[in-house]
Amino acid sequence: MGQTQTAEFAGIVFFRRDYRERDMLVKILTDNFGFKMFFVRGARKRGFRLGAAILPFTQANYFGAISTNGLSFINAAKDVEHYQNLLQDIELNAYATYLLELAAAAFGDSQPLGGWFSQLQQALSLIDRHFDPAIIVNIIEVQLLNFFGVKPNLQDCVICHQTTGAFDFSESYGGLLCAAHFHLDPRRMHLDQRTLYFLRTFAQLDLRRLNSIHVKSTTKNNLRQALDQIYDNEVGLNLKSRHFLEEMKIWPKH
Ligand SMILES: [Zn+2]
Repeated sequence: MGQTQTAEFAGIVFFRRDYRERDMLVKILTDNFGFKMFFVRGARKRGFRLGAAILPFTQANYFGAISTNGLSFINAAKDVEHYQNLLQDIELNAYATYLLELAAAAFGDSQPLGGWFSQLQQALSLIDRHFDPAIIVNIIEVQLLNFFGVKPNLQDCVICHQTTGAFDFSESYGGLLCAAHFHLDPRRMHLDQRTLYFLRTFAQLDLRRLNSIHVKSTTKNNLRQALDQIYDNEVGLNLKSRHFLEEMKIWPKH
């Protein structure tokens, strides 16, 4: 069963599902313990005292018992806040679900996320406040590539380290090529400069400093296609939430 320790921790409820007749299993992204599955006894009973604290897209400070590799437990919660729009708006909900599913795939269970807890918290908060969810998702996708082992060089030309001028992205070189080195990869992605600019910017961006962002819809489509190509070829995930976004037709297809 592994070891159990009592702890107070911040968490964001990712999803939950019914378990047995009266109980629930609740997956929570925690600040110090990563993604953990909690067994919540009596959660399906009417008037359950922790009901508000285990709704999806709730953020709270919890007190409970964390198990290293078995189910964990919640005893109490305080400072309970809901991402109201993520709960109520099916489109925002779909983006937020994808974001957490992607992070869960990148980090796995029980892996502490370090600064990524607040980065994801900020991403959800921005989507909840109606920042363009497609762009917030793009930013997280670019940054999570490192955790999927892709580590693309989006700083400078991988050959000569030129930092200005025209660039393209080369999957075989794992990063940028400057115009002088385009010839090295005829199968480079042929991205337009605006799309590349945003990919490079997103790689560095601290979401806590994001005040506003506006990206033209053609560039948004290009970003979506570029990231789909990189994720399909180099990460190879098959996430339900991504298919759902495609089905909702809010996710451009290529
Ligand atoms: Zn170069």
